[in-house]
Order: sequence, then structure tokens, then C-alpha cells
Amino acid sequence: MNYCLKKDTEDFLEKYFNFSINTEMEIQNCLVLDGVIDIIDKEGVFWQNYNIRILLSKLNYPNVIPEVFELSSKIDRDIKFHIDTNGKCCLDIYHRLALVQRRGINIIDFYKRFVYPFFANHQFKIKTDSYANGEYDHDIAGVIQYYKEEFELTDFTIIIKYLECSLGILKAERNRECPICGKPKYKKCCAMKVEKLKSYGNKLLKLDLKIFKENLSTITS
Ligand SMILES: [Zn+2]
Ligand SMILES: [Zn+2]
Repeated sequence: MNYCLKKDTEDFLEKYFNFSINTEMEIQNCLVLDGVIDIIDKEGVFWQNYNIRILLSKLNYPNVIPEVFELSSKIDRDIKFHIDTNGKCCLDIYHRLALVQRRGINIIDFYKRFVYPFFANHQFKIKTDSYANGEYDHDIAGVIQYYKEEFELTDFTIIIKYLECSLGILKAERNRECPICGKPKYKKCCAMKVEKLKSYGNKLLKLDLKIFKENLSTITS
């Protein structure tokens, strides 16, 4: 087994003793962690528990997003709860997860940042009909929402220029006129957002570029 995965899993199991490695489930190249999550609020009041399964790729760990399944069927299999018919949980928008994957995960941190909050949020949603920290739409609407919230960008034509600049299709020089907004010095206006975008990796940026281009033509035609 991948040494990093072995060590991180041992640390995880020591901390979360409701979990164990399921050796009977054979899922190709995956380590299977089964366990129970207890959702407890700030006052220590027990809300609910969920049986869950976490799949960790033995090949790609730590550069991987664990797949998380809810096994107890306490969450309606309805996409409004960010879960699919197989119980696979949609932990966050793909963009944020892609950044996390590129940096590499630690399963304890990932559990604290994405897994536990997902189930705590389900309780919150049931009680209040909304999520504690908002939520992202799925598919294209989610991507558009992400650019709006994360980059404060809504104009598709501008977003396309940003993406082209990030991918090197559109050339920009720090002290020259900005190819995105036209201001005299690129470094003083759009360069920062372009650098931030670059951290998502070309694969994702190309996909986004395709999405915005396709939707631009549907709007203008
Ligand atoms: Zn979702
Ligand atoms: Zn600019």
C-alpha cells in the first residue's frame, strides 16, 4: 500500500474509532473505510448518526478526492440533498475539490472539512430548509455561480477572456495594456485573478472555457 495512505489511515482510525477498514468489500484500487458519523451540535446534543463509506484511491492518494457514500438511507435520494441514487454524496462544487486534489489531502483534514460538515449540513437543511454556508447549484448553473461568488465575474465575454489568458491563448504582459479590460497596466488590474485561476489547472480551465463559450452562443444566437 501507498505509504502515505497507510500512515494517514492509521492516524484516522486512531482518532475516529467508529471507523474501520472493510476488507470484505473489494473495490478496485480502493481502500474502503466504513463507519458511523455522529452529528452533535455545539451544546453537545446528539442530532443524528449516519453509516457511511469512504473510498480512498490507493493509486492516487494523497492527490485524490475520496468518494463518500451514505449507507443508512437517512438522506432522501434527492439531488436537492446533494446525493445521487447510489448514495454518493456531492461534497462540494467540483472547482473547490479540484484545488484540494491538486494540493493533496490528508484524510483527517478532509473528513473535518468536507465529510462531517456534509452530514451536519443535512441536519441543518432538514431543520431550517437551508444550508448553513449556502450551496452550489449543479452542472452549468453551479459553474456560473462559482465564478460569480469566487471571482466576482458574471459577464461571459469577460470570463472567456480571463480563461483564455489563464490558458495562454490570450497573451498578457505585466506592464502592457490588459487584454481583458483594456486598462494600461495588466499587472494592476486583471493579473491577480488570472494567477488565481491558473491554480485550478489547465484541464479544468479548458472545460470551463468550453462551457462559457457554448453558453455564450446560446445567449447571443
Ligand atoms: Zn451537489
Ligand atoms: Zn484588466
